[in-house]
Amino acid sequence: MHEQSIVESLLALALENAEKAKASRIIRIYLVVGEYSGVLEEAVDFYFSFLSKNTIAADASLFYTRIPAQLRCRNCDRIFTPEKLDFHCPGCNEQQVEIIAGRELYIDSMEVE
Ligand SMILES: [Zn+2]
Repeated sequence: MHEQSIVESLLALALENAEKAKASRIIRIYLVVGEYSGVLEEAVDFYFSFLSKNTIAADASLFYTRIPAQLRCRNCDRIFTPEKLDFHCPGCNEQQVEIIAGRELYIDSMEVE
């Protein structure tokens, strides 16, 4: 599962930021997750509680903000949010699209003490 390596790098970043802030523990971590990131929140929670043991993030809660995908039509340059998995451009009905948003996964902010 690719969530494990994703969580490893998120945790490393969170710990690094907490250290810079001279925090003694991390309370909450707010994550932004794109609709197409392919990341399951349950899996992230699972790996996080496993990997954060014996760190100052061990009791941290994770909060998720999902952001919708955006596609750009290669034919007419229109940018749109697809309905379900319908990738047809609403402008010209072509299906030549590229994903320009929706694959993100990053820490938006966190609370420490
Ligand atoms: Zn189009």
